[in-house]
Amino acid sequence: MDNFTVLGIETSCDETAAAVVRGSPPGPGEILSNIVFSQNEAHAPYGGVVPEIASRAHLEILDGVIESALEQAKVALGDIDAIAATAGPGLIGGVIVGLTTAKALALAANKPLIAVNHLAGHALTARLTDGVAFPFLLLLVSGGHCQLLAVEGPEKFWLYGSTMDDAAGEAFDKTAKLLGLPYPGGPAVEEAAAHGNARRYPLPRPLLGRPQGSGMAFSFSGLKTALRQLVQTGTVDVNDAAASFQAAVIDILRDRTGNALSRFQQDFPDTAAPTLVVAGGVAANFAIGSALTVLAESRNFGIQIPPPNYCTDNAAMIAWAGLERFAAGVSDSIGIGPRARWPLDPGLDGGHGDQRQDTA
Ligand code: AMP
Ligand code: MG
Repeated sequence: MDNFTVLGIETSCDETAAAVVRGSPPGPGEILSNIVFSQNEAHAPYGGVVPEIASRAHLEILDGVIESALEQAKVALGDIDAIAATAGPGLIGGVIVGLTTAKALALAANKPLIAVNHLAGHALTARLTDGVAFPFLLLLVSGGHCQLLAVEGPEKFWLYGSTMDDAAGEAFDKTAKLLGLPYPGGPAVEEAAAHGNARRYPLPRPLLGRPQGSGMAFSFSGLKTALRQLVQTGTVDVNDAAASFQAAVIDILRDRTGNALSRFQQDFPDTAAPTLVVAGGVAANFAIGSALTVLAESRNFGIQIPPPNYCTDNAAMIAWAGLERFAAGVSDSIGIGPRARWPLDPGLDGGHGDQRQDTA
């Protein structure tokens, strides 16, 4: 099969990233370069991403990041088969910077443009890293998203359930803020939790055991409120609170994902070796990964958790998602616009997984 070389650009949140990836579906692909410039320092004083700061920073450094990616990959723009960029969903200012830059490069070098859905990038990462076959079950847990999806093809997704309020990563970030831990909160909370007693503080597990969205929807806001009330009592052990919080998140993810494993088996009974893929920044959490590994194995599912640097936002996943579409003969018109919202399964925009619709 043909090998393709694709340049990827990612600017949808607070990482300015460019990468060059080579390969063909189903993967694994070769990552020739993967430059990620994290703006964490710029946003840290605010305890979260400030959109205006993010888009300005993307604008200032994206050209240099792309140059480095090409240089490190030892390829010229002329050697690239296609240019892929995140076209949404995300912070619109950042998406505009990345997509416009990709269009300019595509026009200048006369290369096809591929507009990539950021979530498809996360979803397809396990094919880039491990060549996971379709269909597979995906738990996407990032700073902006918390969803369970069946992935049947590079553009064929079935939404099983999503969060009704906060994303899982957002819950980690807000918890860190409440506990006075540094930003970004995920790694700091995980580190504190490793030294804490998870049974010290009883915290709620919203929706646990409930049938909402066929048992595959998520909610974290009640947990956050309980934690805020706990902190307001004044005398809280940070490590114990972090451990109690993380234990609640693990219980929620395990319960919801368990229901999705059953649903996936009903929907795809002929899948010989079904796999649970965990993607997004929260997948870097070792305790969460371990709990989900035990769950998957107890249900005869394999599990793939891409390495942490491919779980958090990066451009290699965007290049790969672009490569999958390009290999399928798809490219986009130069007039394509950026999208702040862009669900993977448009049939269920904001829905909670009660139906299954063909989105092709
Ligand atoms: P992403 O949106 O995919 O770039 O992922 C960023 C999110 O992942 C942020 O909300 C982080 O707090 C979260 N995150 C990163 N590392 C960890 C970790 N070890 N445990 C929990 N959450 C994490
Ligand atoms: Mg992301």
